[in-house]
Parts: sequence; C-alpha cells; structure tokens
Amino acid sequence: MGSPTGKHEMRICVIGAGPSGLAQLRAFQSAKEAGAEIPEIVCYEKQADWGGLWRYDWRTGVDEYSNPVHASMYRYLWSNGPKEGLEFADYSFDGHFGKPIASYPPRAVLFDYIEGRVKKAGVRDWIRFSTVVRDVTYADGMFTVTARNGEADTETKEQFDKVIVASGHFSFPNVPYYPGFEGFNGRILHAHDFRDAREFEGKDILILGTSYSAEDIGSQCWKYGAKSITVGHRTAPMGFDWPSNWAEVPALEKVEGKTAFFKDGTSKTVDAIILCTGYKHHFPFLPDDLRLKTANRLAASDLYKGVVYTGNPDLFYLGMQDQWYTFNMFDAQAWWVRDVILGRIALPDAAAMEADWQQRQADEDALADDYACIVYQGDYVKELIAETDYPSFNVDGANEAFFQWKKHKKKGIMSFRDHGYVSPMTGTMAPPHHTRWKDALDDSLESYLQTTADAAE
Ligand SMILES: Cc1cc2nc3c(=O)[nH]c(=O)nc-3n(C[C@H](O)[C@H](O)[C@H](O)COP(=O)(O)OP(=O)(O)OC[C@H]3O[C@@H](n4cnc5c(N)ncnc54)[C@H](O)[C@@H]3O)c2cc1C
Repeated sequence: MGSPTGKHEMRICVIGAGPSGLAQLRAFQSAKEAGAEIPEIVCYEKQADWGGLWRYDWRTGVDEYSNPVHASMYRYLWSNGPKEGLEFADYSFDGHFGKPIASYPPRAVLFDYIEGRVKKAGVRDWIRFSTVVRDVTYADGMFTVTARNGEADTETKEQFDKVIVASGHFSFPNVPYYPGFEGFNGRILHAHDFRDAREFEGKDILILGTSYSAEDIGSQCWKYGAKSITVGHRTAPMGFDWPSNWAEVPALEKVEGKTAFFKDGTSKTVDAIILCTGYKHHFPFLPDDLRLKTANRLAASDLYKGVVYTGNPDLFYLGMQDQWYTFNMFDAQAWWVRDVILGRIALPDAAAMEADWQQRQADEDALADDYACIVYQGDYVKELIAETDYPSFNVDGANEAFFQWKKHKKKGIMSFRDHGYVSPMTGTMAPPHHTRWKDALDDSLESYLQTTADAAE
C-alpha cells in the first residue's frame, strides 16, 4: 500500500471482465492516454478469458474450479437487438471490421468486436484471470477483497480504496417448481444451462416464460428442427406471428409423466421443459451492507445515477439495469464512475443520492410502453455522457434503430434479423446479410463476414 514517499496510492478493484468491466478498464486507459494520472487497477475475472457472457462456454453446472458456471449464452446465438443500439462510440463496427456489416451479428462476431477494442487499448495486464472474488469487506475506509486463483489454487487478500462490481446479472437462474417436476420423464433445464438447439431436434418442447430467452430459445429450437414448441405464459402471450408448430398457452399447473397440464384445462405431452424464468441479481461475495438488492428494471434501487451504491459511495455497480442499451450504456457508466474516482465529478450528499434513484424509479413507473422505455434509457445514456469526455453520439439515431427493430419483430419474428439499420456512430447503413437468418445455420465469424458475392461463389 505505501509508496517510497509514504503517500497512499489509490487502488481500484474491478470485479468482472465482461463488457461492463472492460468498459471500466478502457475508460481509465483512455484517461491515461490523454495524460491523466490514474490509480492502480486490479480486475478479477473468474473465467479464463474476457468477454463475460459473450465468451462461449460449453460447460454447465460448475466450472473447472467448481465455481458456478457464469455462461448463459448458447451456440447459434445471434444478437437479439440491432448492433446499432450497442455500438461503442470510440470504436465503431466499420472501423473494427474494415467494412460495414449486417445488423444482427452472431455471438462470435460480437465477441471479436468487444475484444478488438480492449486488445487495442492494451489493458489485458490489469486482469487476473481464473480468479474468483470470494469475499469483500469494508472497514476504516478501505475494502479488503479476498480472491481465489483457481489455476494456482491460492487465495489472496488485498486492500482497495474503491470497488466496482461488474459481475453481471444474467448468470444465477430463477428456478420455479411445479408439481410433478420430480417425476417428469424428460429433461428439465433452465435457460442458463441451454447450449445447443440441436439437442431438441425432432422433440416436443415446453418453454415457460415470455422473456427474450423464451422467444429466442424457442426460435433457435424451431430453426434447428424441434417438432413443436409450446410456450406457457403467466400474464400474457408474446403474440408474435409464430410458425404453425408453435403454440402459446396459459400457465403450467402441473406435470404428470411427460404430460404438462395448463391453467385452461388443456394439456400437451412434451420431451423437455426449458425454464426461461429469468435471473437473480446475486452477489455471493458481498456482505449484506454492500449487496445490491434490486429488481431487474431500468432504474435500479439504491444506485445514484444508476452506478453509485447509496449505502457506501466508495462502491460502484455497472450494468445492473434491465437493458435495451448495453455496451455503450456500460461505457457511459464506466466513464462517469472513472470521473468520480478521478475527482472530476463530485457526489452530492446522501439525501440527494437517495432522492435521485427514487425519482428515476417514479419516472420509470410512469412510462407508457416499450418505446418510452427505450427513450428513457437513451436519455440516461445522454445524461451520463454529457458529463464526461465519452464521445458524444447520435443517441436518437440508436433509439430509432430500436424502434425499427420492434416494428420488424411485429412484422415477422423469424425474419426481423434480415433487416438493417443506420449506425449512430458512422452514419453507415448496414448491408443485408448474405443469408436469411432462418436459413443461416452456420453462425461462425468467417461465415458472417462473407459478403453476398463471396457467399454465392
Ligand atoms: C442469453 C443472453 C443473451 C443476450 N443477448 C444480448 C444481445 O443480443 N445483445 C445485447 O446487447 N445484450 C445481450 N445480453 C445482455 C448481456 O447482459 C450484455 O450484453 C453483457 O454481457 C453484460 O455485460 P456485463 O459485463 O455487465 O456482464 P457479463 O457479461 O455477465 O460479465 C460479467 C463478468 O463478471 C465475471 N464474474 C462474475 N462473478 C465474478 C466473481 N465473483 N469474481 C470474478 N469475476 C466474476 C464473469 O465471469 C463475467 O466475465 C444477453 C444476455 C443473455 C444472458
């Protein structure tokens, strides 16, 4: 801790090297590049590589060091929203790929893009990989962070002035129980453990939930040859123009053998049940007084400006909101947090910080529909970037891409990914992909980056 001059040098701990944690590293590195003195930064990452959920992992259950597997993404995942809504303002798609690309890239393409920016920034040395944070405590103005390196099987305890939690909130499944589950003669799994849609080829599957996971996992299974898809909803059906072998039914009541019974008295015999029932904000490494407790919503509880923990303003959280905007919103947050830490932005008193998130929640509660939610989150991004040197970008243009996306989904749930939008960073119109999404079974980077002309050869 001490320096030769006896001066205390500030140390920052970042937990997680997914898109949010990497945004934080890039934010500090960009300040350094511009001549600022920055604190020492240590980023702990439990996986062996960066990218968070975008790093594909075939494992389910526990990882190689017996920690819960972080990954919830699956093979053949294509972006579920337009890439124009998540583009980095300091690192465009056109710049990374050297040419315009289509609007709904598969996972491997987005991983490459995320990685491209941080490779260029040269921040890999700040990260301790295969190292899970197990415990964080706060006393006398300092945090003590206990972490275990799985590879070396060693534990460290280090002190930090500030901690930034960027561990994500789509990795700990919310798993409901229904009578008869224990006797079901097939596989029951949560979306967190779904990996390859081909497993369900020729099968009748039941999906519970109406989230993105329900919509997208169902669509994947349909695309890769499931016999039928039945989706049980508790409140309302998703209501898209589903294919003929797809049905939306009311909530599940019970299961007997392989037969599922629904609230309206109908039943369906199925081979597998996939629970797309959401995730929990879960931070097993934090004590109660530092632990964020919030619903998955646009204005999270107890976070001033969506990032400063009101229970302890030396603690920050990134990316804890429900997400329309993702990568560039994490950037906006990370640049803002950086500037608080560098003393460029002052925090108000505790009462003002408390009033801030409550007002944000009241504003969110008054929103009429999804379109208003998109604008609300876009305004939040604008608000943060106006207070830092993050490159300002055409947020209204990104909102417009989201609006178009919603309309395209309504028009055709299996064809919305065939559309393209204008980049809010470069103004380029995305070209169409060479193959329609429903026919594109190869989700590799190489295949995606082919042009229509290459693909025709
Ligand atoms: C199935 C699925 C599909 C999605 N599709 C899209 C999409 O198409 N477009 C989009 O924009 N967004 C999508 N998302 C949203 C996704 O949340 C964001 O894109 C993004 O990955 C969030 O970044 P993050 O860094 O906040 O969290 P994560 O990506 O979850 O990264 C968190 C990191 O923290 C690490 N970590 C966790 N706990 C610890 C610990 N105790 N110690 C050390 N490290 C730890 C993890 O290993 C991980 O690397 C999807 C999410 C899911 C689950």
